Amino acid sequence: MSDLKIGVLGAGVVGLTTAVELQKEFRQAQIDVVADKFYEDTTSFVAAGLFRPGTSFCGPTEDITRKWISDAYYYWDEIRKTAEAPDAGVTQMSGYIFSSKFPGLVRNHYIEKIVPIYRSATEEELSICPGNWKYGSYFTTLLTECSRYLPWATKRFTANGGKITTRKIENFSEFQNQYDVVVNCTGLGSKFLCNDYKIVPMRGQVLKVEAKWIKTFFYGDYDTYIIPGFESVTLGGCRQYDSYDLSVNKYDGMAIKERCEALLPSLKNAKLVAQRVGLRPHRDPVRVEKELVNCNGSKLKVVHNYGHGGYGVTVAPGTSLYAVKLVRESLSGSSKL
Ligand SMILES: Cc1cc2nc3c(=O)[nH]c(=O)nc-3n(C[C@H](O)[C@H](O)[C@H](O)COP(=O)(O)OP(=O)(O)OC[C@H]3O[C@@H](n4cnc5c(N)ncnc54)[C@H](O)[C@@H]3O)c2cc1C
Repeated sequence: MSDLKIGVLGAGVVGLTTAVELQKEFRQAQIDVVADKFYEDTTSFVAAGLFRPGTSFCGPTEDITRKWISDAYYYWDEIRKTAEAPDAGVTQMSGYIFSSKFPGLVRNHYIEKIVPIYRSATEEELSICPGNWKYGSYFTTLLTECSRYLPWATKRFTANGGKITTRKIENFSEFQNQYDVVVNCTGLGSKFLCNDYKIVPMRGQVLKVEAKWIKTFFYGDYDTYIIPGFESVTLGGCRQYDSYDLSVNKYDGMAIKERCEALLPSLKNAKLVAQRVGLRPHRDPVRVEKELVNCNGSKLKVVHNYGHGGYGVTVAPGTSLYAVKLVRESLSGSSKL
């Protein structure tokens, strides 16, 4: 082992994916993950995890954004092809997106040419669900369920010598002289850690129900979605800008239930397993960049990787591979490499 030390701040899907990729790139380094919350206490755990970046998702340039998305798709798809896929929570899934409003709402310029199937719904398919659906698409994509992926990635990380510490960081100066470089994957935590006013919570609430007969995902108007997973089916949703409320709101729950049951009436027989709330770390653009942070006069090398909004499970591998490249750049010239 060399004396190169890298700290990863954050243990959501972004932090753990970055940590595992850093281990592959810097095989001799000591890599630590430091976070105050894990597994079910992270935003990542709340996500349904469908691979579907929003059309407004953006990195610094269109080319970089597209590269993040395609790198991420092939990363998840490689896991899907292995015997590890069920443990990692990765699977393939097909479904429909319908709209009664605008044709553009059922298109996705980012993934139409990446996923194996993305086509217009036929007239017959537009009447699969009750409602006056005018536009629709059918597509096949991937799903990564974080209730499985986070423990799986943690196990890989620790088996490769990675260390995990539970700690809340108030200031980067707490890492002074401890690491050669720190990768900041704190999601919404960066609002305070970096005084970053561009990052905003986008509150979401979901219902988890038992409905084993549902094998297909469905999206309708007004942020209505039904996404089957390994353990349960996720019903959503809502997007509440600048809300920090982490408690379950009974009216949001009732509205989600009503909209999803209107789309798929068989859900009326589904047993409610849980309701969960998460604050999506929305930032335009997502921040993946190097910074030299001033710590009491000396400089700490930091690579940021945060602000994925509602699409962090989708894109985490893409931005993490990019962040690993920035870590290498920031260490260039170091005698520890
Ligand atoms: C309802 C809902 C549905 C969603 N559905 C999808 C979906 O289908 N597909 C998709 O791609 N995305 C989805 N998302 C979005 C996705 O969940 C997020 O983009 C993603 O989880 C962000 O991951 P992260 O690792 O950046 O943040 P988090 O999972 O929030 O992890 C942040 C980590 O940083 C740590 N941390 C923060 N501040 C500090 C600090 N000061 N000191 C120490 N540790 C700190 C935390 O403890 C935690 O470990 C959904 C989100 C919600 C809320």
